[in-house]
Amino acid sequence: MRQVIIIGSGPAGYTAAIYAARANFKPLVIASSVEAGGELMNTTEVENFPGFPEGVMGPDLMMKMQEQAEKFGAEVLLDDVVSVELTGDVKRVVTGGGQTFEALTVIFATGSANRKLGLADEDRLSGHGVSWCATCDGFFFRQKTVAIVGGGDSAMEEANFLTRFADKVYVIHRSETLRASKIMQDRALANPKIEFLWNSTIDSLLGDESLTGVTLKNTVTGDTIDVELQGLFIAIGNDPRTQLIHGQLDLAPEGTVAVKGRTSKTNLTGVFAAGDVVDPTYRQAITAAASGTVAALDAEHYLQSLPAEVLAQAENN
Ligand SMILES: Cc1cc2nc3c(=O)[nH]c(=O)nc-3n(C[C@H](O)[C@H](O)[C@H](O)COP(=O)(O)OP(=O)(O)OC[C@H]3O[C@@H](n4cnc5c(N)ncnc54)[C@H](O)[C@@H]3O)c2cc1C
Repeated sequence: MRQVIIIGSGPAGYTAAIYAARANFKPLVIASSVEAGGELMNTTEVENFPGFPEGVMGPDLMMKMQEQAEKFGAEVLLDDVVSVELTGDVKRVVTGGGQTFEALTVIFATGSANRKLGLADEDRLSGHGVSWCATCDGFFFRQKTVAIVGGGDSAMEEANFLTRFADKVYVIHRSETLRASKIMQDRALANPKIEFLWNSTIDSLLGDESLTGVTLKNTVTGDTIDVELQGLFIAIGNDPRTQLIHGQLDLAPEGTVAVKGRTSKTNLTGVFAAGDVVDPTYRQAITAAASGTVAALDAEHYLQSLPAEVLAQAENN
């Protein structure tokens, strides 16, 4: 039996692993078979993670985090968790590779997935003009033309934010009515740098090395037009990865795992959650990392509260 199992290997999972390993709990990180390292593996330059004034490539940052966790004794397994049993004192975690692990604590750090448009070149141009995060990437588009896809509050907020950098921001929306709250709509509609392209969906992305534009299709007439752009921000929603724990962990109204106050404590004793899977608002690498710290410290306090023989039993396996 393990003392700590961490599911997920993004900034939250690896930071939790660094703390748990340095506290001598020899955590097992089940990192995913093909997506180890999390969302930053899909991006290029990260310029807002403290400690890297020249910026750092997303995959390099995640490899460093993994290296740091392993240096202190974390074990990283490249496999997917396919089912969990979290209700008892001993938690069980089953992987796609057919292994079953037992642990006294589980830290759930599976992140969240930004919804994609489903276009052929979306993944190829991710980090090369296509982005899901205005806070992360807006700065790269000074004096450029960009577009945002979506009609909700996040899309309006991001459109307004992007006008701080870009000369022109299109909002591409499939109908003529926005889902966003009135106040967010009014702010975007009044912004002289924002132009709405109503009744429009993106048919294809243009550009070889990086994005140069999009082909739009009018949802009413069926006509297509090309629009020149250097940046496209996709803001059509985000889904916390909670499938594994449905029916076991309580969810917040936003669909994230519910945690108590500023802690990482879920409704189940010994189960903690961290990173984007608990965060409907900030979703940044540094906030996920901070949340991983909280989870490791909460797990540590819980383990220390257990009878010494229970802890020792987990240590010896
Ligand atoms: C393209 C892009 C660029 C970004 N750029 C920046 C930036 O410049 N700066 C910034 O601060 N933030 C940036 N972000 C946001 C940042 O990446 C996230 O906020 C952060 O990665 C969240 O960390 P996390 O650990 O919670 O989750 P994630 O990074 O999503 O990691 C979760 C991990 O859990 C794994 N997992 C899920 N389910 C299972 C399972 N069943 N079994 C095993 N493993 C599982 C996943 O495969 C993944 O490896 C960017 C995001 C994207 C998409």
